[in-house]
Amino acid sequence: MPKSPLFLDRDGVINQRPRGSYVRHPSEFVFEKNALQALHLLAQLFSPIVVVTNQAGIGKGVMTHADVGAVHQKMQAETKRAGGRIDAVYYCPHRPDEGCHCRKPAPGMAYEAQRDFPQIVFSNAWMVGDSLSDMQMGASLGMHTALILGKEEEAAALEHFPTTARFPSLWDFARHCWAGLHQQGPV
Ligand SMILES: [Mg+2]
Repeated sequence: MPKSPLFLDRDGVINQRPRGSYVRHPSEFVFEKNALQALHLLAQLFSPIVVVTNQAGIGKGVMTHADVGAVHQKMQAETKRAGGRIDAVYYCPHRPDEGCHCRKPAPGMAYEAQRDFPQIVFSNAWMVGDSLSDMQMGASLGMHTALILGKEEEAAALEHFPTTARFPSLWDFARHCWAGLHQQGPV
């Protein structure tokens, strides 16, 4: 049975979310607790694994494409070293007021991933994120959605979002999927 595709948000899921700021340099990219272990586990359960992340700091002139590229190089290299896998990273560089088609909750990055990985079927895919926009993007494409708890400024809006699953961390999501696989077949 083919593995399900996995879409991951970045900030607040893989790495610690910089409050009111952006990760502008690899030194500012700090993995969430047990995120590397989670990625190791998830690599055995999902394919492809892609990251979709809004990085409006580029459009605001706070950082460059090269800065973000260096951050993602670190993220992918450390993930690989830990036995995990991030097959592709898609980021939206636009400000919210630019009206682009890629800033989540718009589905542009997911469609871009589907062009690169034609085996992606959204109804088999999971979207894991910590923001309302992640859940909205996933739900609009018919994906399963998993909310990583912790974004307190959106807690009220997220409380009523009909997301299918809620977890304290990516590690908890990964362990849940692993347990599911070994008890009742693939997730
Ligand atoms: Mg996030």
